Amino acid sequence: MVPNNNNIEKPDSWPSSQKILVILAHPDDPEFFCGATLARWAQAGHKIIYFLLTCGDKGYNDTTKPEEISPDALCVIRHEEQTRAAQKIGAMEVHWLERPDGYLVADLDLRRDVVRVIRKLKPNILVTCDPQTLFATYGINHPDHRAAGQVVLDAVFPASGNAAYFPELLTEGYVPHMPKEVWCSLTNQPNVVLDVTDTWPIKLDALLQHKSQIGDKTKFLERMKTRHSEDSTDQEPRYEEKFRVVKYT
Ligand SMILES: [Zn+2]
Repeated sequence: MVPNNNNIEKPDSWPSSQKILVILAHPDDPEFFCGATLARWAQAGHKIIYFLLTCGDKGYNDTTKPEEISPDALCVIRHEEQTRAAQKIGAMEVHWLERPDGYLVADLDLRRDVVRVIRKLKPNILVTCDPQTLFATYGINHPDHRAAGQVVLDAVFPASGNAAYFPELLTEGYVPHMPKEVWCSLTNQPNVVLDVTDTWPIKLDALLQHKSQIGDKTKFLERMKTRHSEDSTDQEPRYEEKFRVVKYT
């Protein structure tokens, strides 16, 4: 039997406009993890919506130090930066849960909040990150990233499509809804690899909006150049974004 490779060759060639909900921990996660893919989908006419679990109020680096800026002030800055970055990507909306940065736990309370937003916004496609990624290229993957991925997957299955879970949400008017596909970014076990060379410049432009996080612009862009695919050349640079995709259709 010849396997049907259509889905592997064209994993995101959906026949109609899709509503795509991106649930991640921090501002800048959508752009860093899968920004070129999101830009590609926005260009294709899909509706991209961000739902961020924290405002990144502890996201300090060399240029933003805790002794120089309060978490509340940093939260305001990061809202503004994320709004600008989302516009560059082509995302239509940015929603926030405003949980404290750095303390995310994939517990039942957070799972209920995520089920609520899935049932409320009714996405066709859900994007999050792989909770099993303990080690990333830069060292230990942030615990918020792992918690965000875990709670989103736990919310999708078995809760969001099953009325028996969180019956109080029914009382609030949120009926069960199941996304068709879940795309996990930041994964070490991909089953979908997209060539995103065409929209890589949009990803970079969006990332540059996160001024509080990226430090020196020139050094940052040099660093991002090294994220090319294995077969990339100086003459023809190529970039990829990788996902673990689970389909429910
Ligand atoms: Zn993050």
